[in-house]
Amino acid sequence: QCVAVCPTGALTEVDQTGAVIRALSDPSKTVIVQTAPAVRAALGEEFGLPAGTLVTGKMAAALRRLGFDYVFDTDFAADLTIMEEGTELLGRLNKFLAGDKDVKLPILTSCCPAWVKFFEHHFPGLKDIPSTARSPQQMFGSIAKTYFADKMQVKREDLVVVSIMPCVAKKYESSRDEFAVDGNPDVDYALTTRELAQIINLANIDFKFLPDEEFDQPMGESTGASVIFGTTGGVIEAAVRTAYELQTGKTLERLDFEELRGMEGLRKATIDFDGLPINIGIAHGLGNARKLLEEIKTGASEFHAIEIMSCPGGCIGGGGQPYHHGDVEILRKRQKAIYSEDQSKTIRKSHENPYIKKLYQEFLGEPLSEKAHHLLHTEYFDRS
Ligand code: SF4
Repeated sequence: QCVAVCPTGALTEVDQTGAVIRALSDPSKTVIVQTAPAVRAALGEEFGLPAGTLVTGKMAAALRRLGFDYVFDTDFAADLTIMEEGTELLGRLNKFLAGDKDVKLPILTSCCPAWVKFFEHHFPGLKDIPSTARSPQQMFGSIAKTYFADKMQVKREDLVVVSIMPCVAKKYESSRDEFAVDGNPDVDYALTTRELAQIINLANIDFKFLPDEEFDQPMGESTGASVIFGTTGGVIEAAVRTAYELQTGKTLERLDFEELRGMEGLRKATIDFDGLPINIGIAHGLGNARKLLEEIKTGASEFHAIEIMSCPGGCIGGGGQPYHHGDVEILRKRQKAIYSEDQSKTIRKSHENPYIKKLYQEFLGEPLSEKAHHLLHTEYFDRS
């Protein structure tokens, strides 16, 4: 067993590489994989490439050579998260503007499982405030084992969903009871970036010399908004890009919200939604999160929406990433790589992802529909 621990100190890493290798060797199983946004900005370091080298295409090629039947992208599900979370934000905001005093604001992001566990333990009284949207990892698993399994005519129990995460807490998240149907989890195994590197080495794949390959469709298509989930401030920036256009009906003139970016542990910015000022808070590190939560508890919070990630720099500094030994320069290089992938995308707003539109048309209906609630949302528990 691996001994690495989550930087939040909450969880120990459980090695699931053996189980994944067994699944890949089982001809009765269809094994699919999703890769989180931050992994592509750091995996190369395990193979001697300089920090900040984007290896998206080589990573897809390596996963295909390892034998995965479909190589998909968690970024697809990050776009889906924005559709659900952004709609939830606008719903609450508009109720508030209409004078509803009971509405829960600020809305808090919910895609970091270590953060979710933190507020369930330490601030259970605030458990109605975070978005109910599941994390991209879990949305992916849920859609894979329903929509995709139906399309491929594969039985749920014969579909194995593997995720590659920058994160140790994602292993715990995938094992939460609410993310399983009759004991069959939506995400079967969550490997860290380091564990993926180990398997690639074990298979004697010469990573540095792999060609760049594309993800498979339909769950491999993503936008620039989804890749920035990998760094602090990225989730809320992606949400702003979509929420602004849905709220105002206007096209955003700029997509780079520099005021939401950076490495300071606590940041705030006001974004003008065509005359409506939206106050946004961002925290990475749970000490910083605690400060914002204490303000909410006392009613002193000035924010409409807050993004919280547990790790330094967000997922680029996750506990499953190649070790950075606290070197902020390495994190900055990974962050730069994430923003460069965003810039390189033709589509940079989640609501414009054509496969997400198709998913709603064919299967989910609309954001926050009954089906979307059932498959893409969750609840939180008092674990104090
Ligand atoms: Fe995992 Fe850290 Fe990202 Fe949270 S911030 S999802 S704990 S890697």
